[in-house]
Amino acid sequence: MDSLKLDHIGIAVRSIEQVIPLWRDTLNAKLGDRETIPSQQVEVLFLETGETRTELLEPTSPDSAVSRFIEKRGEGLHHIAYQVEDLTATMKQLISAGSKLIYPEPRPGSHSTLINFIHPSSTGGVLIELVEYPAGCDSSHRKEEPNS
Ligand code: ZN
Repeated sequence: MDSLKLDHIGIAVRSIEQVIPLWRDTLNAKLGDRETIPSQQVEVLFLETGETRTELLEPTSPDSAVSRFIEKRGEGLHHIAYQVEDLTATMKQLISAGSKLIYPEPRPGSHSTLINFIHPSSTGGVLIELVEYPAGCDSSHRKEEPNS
């Protein structure tokens, strides 16, 4: 396994629209891609914040895991995401090391990535997302992709 690279930090919010003035106007973060991710029942907005992006997550359904998170714990830091070369291989290594994953199979994430999460019970309380970018495309190539 290659060494881990921090990909983004996920923050759960009730409303992306409501927090845009803080991030864009007050903190001067550049707004990146906005995308709905049906498999996660969330809408996300990426903020270009240097080497590591910040991801704002707004639930699109009361059944969304992010919705349940906000109900239980309020808005706030939700997960930290790391890039991996081969998600399936990393998942196998984690399972054989006794770690608990959220999904049995990789799921589609934003930017055509594959994602899974390591359960906080296996990480000392932090939800960790693992992100595999499509071949030949990691986050450093992302800016050359056409934006819709
Ligand atoms: Zn994320």
